[in-house]
Amino acid sequence: MDRCNRLAEITDTLKGISRLYLSPAYMEGLKQVEAWMQEAGMETWVDPVGNQWGRYACPNPDAPTLILGSHLDTVPNAGKFDGILGVMLAIEVVDQVVKAGLELPFHLEVVGFGDEEGVRFEASMLGSRAVVGQWDDDTLELTDAQGISLSAALEACGLNPQDYRAASRKGDNLLGFWEIHMEQGPVLEAENLPVGVVSAIAGARRFKVMIEGEPGHAGTVPMSLRQDALAAASEVNLMIEKSAQIHQLVATVGHIKVYPNAVNVIPGMVEFTVDIRSEDDALREKVMNLIFLASEAICMQRDVDIYWKEYHLAPAKNCHPEFRQLFEQSIAKLKNHVRSLASGAGHDAMTMAEITDIAMLFVRCKDGISHHPDEDVTCEDAEAALQTTLLALKKLAAHYDAGLETLETP
Ligand SMILES: [Zn+2]
Repeated sequence: MDRCNRLAEITDTLKGISRLYLSPAYMEGLKQVEAWMQEAGMETWVDPVGNQWGRYACPNPDAPTLILGSHLDTVPNAGKFDGILGVMLAIEVVDQVVKAGLELPFHLEVVGFGDEEGVRFEASMLGSRAVVGQWDDDTLELTDAQGISLSAALEACGLNPQDYRAASRKGDNLLGFWEIHMEQGPVLEAENLPVGVVSAIAGARRFKVMIEGEPGHAGTVPMSLRQDALAAASEVNLMIEKSAQIHQLVATVGHIKVYPNAVNVIPGMVEFTVDIRSEDDALREKVMNLIFLASEAICMQRDVDIYWKEYHLAPAKNCHPEFRQLFEQSIAKLKNHVRSLASGAGHDAMTMAEITDIAMLFVRCKDGISHHPDEDVTCEDAEAALQTTLLALKKLAAHYDAGLETLETP
């Protein structure tokens, strides 16, 4: 917790916390995190895309590697814990393992990903995406608001952009990726629980929707002759809300533009976005199809046209059942109530699932607030997360020593 506070002092802004990917404060933060990793007994390196790594090797060089970590970048005017807490706890886990002289049957690594938030280059999870081998030459051409390319930003940090492939861990002998993260939601607090085990990370679809009606004079066109695009969009939005409530997933109209957007003109066109998420891909597809049909019906009745364009699709990612069990048993052993919950937000673990099995532990946060200076986690809850993870790690080691080659075996 002291380290979260210390990192919060390293910022690019005079007020508040801001450490965007590859910014001067971001790079200064890495030096600090690297020093802490070394203090905990890890050998350290920064990979070619600016992710910070630490490794505590076990005696058997052929053993697989368990990676613990989260992200070190922040949104502008951020809190102290989103991402950071997971990296600090991972370092603490290794510190405790080293101090206890535990010999594990696998290597332990800690990663602090450089970009999860996607604020600077408008592409999220660039750090973990490099690690799973999803960068290509086009990625280097992404530019920030100042027109600086990712390639130039990497160079400015003393990194060689052409080496990005070397950041990939695809094909390595990995045992899994564990991410501890503040919940960023209100569930654990409402149920008075310090930690929760993530069952799956929700998949998401995002759409740009356009409704085309007919603009007209607000005073002269009678109600019966109107093709009001905004009234139609409003009805569609309420229908989407209702559908999500009925089918128990989340759907949001978060952005809307009205044309011509004038007090005395009937709206002729509306553009809005739809974001729909669920840990159950099949359910999300079913509800989305219902929404398509219902929106067609609403728009036909109102004599306006509706166009849907999908621009983002990410399937849900399940956390590994064996890992979940280890965390659940550890929580029970520590006399806390076992609670499973899905993650509605995307996380680095979602990307890491491309190359290895994942697990996530959520830590209660105050009022569900994140991406804000008021973000807060208590020392007691951080301690509960630490003890849970340590216990899960010991159980994994025991499980592994019992001769089970992989965790796939029940
Ligand atoms: Zn985060």
